[in-house]
Amino acid sequence: MSADVHRTALVRSIEGFVHDVVSPIAPAMARGAGPSPKRIVEAAGEAGLAGLLTPIAYGGAGGSHRDFIEFIEAVARVDASSSVILDVHLSVGTEPLIVFGNDDQKSRYLPRLASGAWLAAFALTEPQGGSDAAALQVRATHDGGAYVLTGSKAFITSGGDADLYVVIARTGHGARGVTAFLVEASSPGVSSGPPLEKMGLRGSWTAELVLDGVRVPDENRLGDEGHGFTVAMSALDSGRVGISAQAVGIAQGAIDATLQHWRRRGGVPDDVDLSTLADMEARTAAARQLTRHAAALVDAGARVTLDASIAKLYSTDTCVAVAQAGVDLCAPESSADDHPAAVRFRDAKACQIYEGTNQIQRVVIARHLLRDRPAHRGIGSIGEGRRLPGGGRST
Ligand SMILES: Cc1cc2nc3c(=O)[nH]c(=O)nc-3n(C[C@H](O)[C@H](O)[C@H](O)COP(=O)(O)OP(=O)(O)OC[C@H]3O[C@@H](n4cnc5c(N)ncnc54)[C@H](O)[C@@H]3O)c2cc1C
Repeated sequence: MSADVHRTALVRSIEGFVHDVVSPIAPAMARGAGPSPKRIVEAAGEAGLAGLLTPIAYGGAGGSHRDFIEFIEAVARVDASSSVILDVHLSVGTEPLIVFGNDDQKSRYLPRLASGAWLAAFALTEPQGGSDAAALQVRATHDGGAYVLTGSKAFITSGGDADLYVVIARTGHGARGVTAFLVEASSPGVSSGPPLEKMGLRGSWTAELVLDGVRVPDENRLGDEGHGFTVAMSALDSGRVGISAQAVGIAQGAIDATLQHWRRRGGVPDDVDLSTLADMEARTAAARQLTRHAAALVDAGARVTLDASIAKLYSTDTCVAVAQAGVDLCAPESSADDHPAAVRFRDAKACQIYEGTNQIQRVVIARHLLRDRPAHRGIGSIGEGRRLPGGGRST
C-alpha cells in the first residue's frame, strides 16, 4: 500500500471511529456512566486503531506520531475521557514496549495490545507525590529469576481495568537506581482501588495500583536494570505530545460547543464580543502547530524534550483558557453540569496536571535555556551551574 493510500485509509478509520463509537457515548462518558476503558480500546481495536503506533509486524497499523496526534485530537474534540484512555494505551502504555522491548516481549504483548484485546497503562506516580524521580519508593528486589515489587502507585489512568502496566520501580539509589517492568494485572499481589470521582474526565478511570509482593519474572524487565529513568523520560517526551493533541481537541470542542449553543438559540446574542471567539480559534490553531512540530520531531527521531514541553505547556494552558471563554460565552446556561461548554471546562483542567504539571514543564524549558544556549550564560546573576529546583520528570 502506498503511503497516501495508507494515510487515507487511516483518516477514514479515525472519522468512522469518532462518528460511530465516540460520539454516541460522549454524554454518558461526561457523566462517568459510559463503557469501561477496556471496551473503548476493544472498539478502537476493531477499527484498527488500538495499535496505531505499533509496527505492522506486531499487528499494529505502523502509523506515525502525526497520525497519532490527529487521532487523539479528533477523539478529544468529541469526548476527552475516551481520548485520555486511548492516549495512555497508545502512548505511555505501549510505546515503551515498542522502543525498549526485546523481541520476546514485543511478540508476547504487542499483538494483544494492538488488537485491543488488552489494555495498557503506565504507573510512575506514587501517593507521596514527587515530580522528582529520585523520590520513587515502590521497591523491586531481585530474588531468584524474578523481581519482587512492593508499594503503591497513585492516579493511574485505567487503573483497575488495564491488563498490562508499565511500572517504574526502585532497584537502587537515586535516579540511576530505577528500573521499568511489564506487570500483568493478573499477577498475584496486584490490586487496585476504586476509580476516583473526578472533577472532569469522568469517563476515564483513575485509580491507585497496589503491588503487594508481586513476582515479576526477569524476562519482564523492560530495558536494563537502572535504565528505568530513561524509559520513563522517553515515554513522557512522546506522551506529552499526545496530551498536547488532547488539549487542542478539547479547545476545538469548546469552540464547537459555543457555536452549537448559539445555533440552538437562533443566533449570536447582540452584545457578545466576537473578538473572544476569534482569540479562542487563533490560540487553538497555534497550539495545533506546536503539537504538529513536536510530533514531526518524534517521527524524525530527533530529541523532543524541549519542544514537547513547550507544546504541552502552551496547548494545555490554551485549552483551559479557551474552555473557560466558552463557558463565559454560553453563560448562564453553561453553568449546568451537562452543558457541553461546562464539560469541556472540567475536562480541560487535568491536562495541565498529568504527564508533568505545567510548573514542571516550565522548569524543563527554563533548564534548557540555561544549559543548552551559551548566549544566555553569564547574563547578570544567571550564571553557569545555577540549578533550578525539581527533577523535571513527572507523569
Ligand atoms: C486525571 C489524572 C490522570 C493521571 N494518570 C496518570 C497515569 O496514568 N500514570 C501516572 O504515573 N500518573 C498519572 N497521573 C499523575 C500525574 O501525572 C501527577 O499527579 C502529576 O505529574 C504531578 O505529580 P505528583 O502528583 O507527584 O505531584 P508533586 O510532584 O508532588 O507536585 C505537587 C505540586 O508541586 C509542584 N511542583 C513539584 N515540583 C516542582 C518544581 N520543581 N517546581 C515548581 N513546582 C513544582 C507541582 O507542579 C504540583 O503543583 C495522573 C493524574 C491525574 C490528575
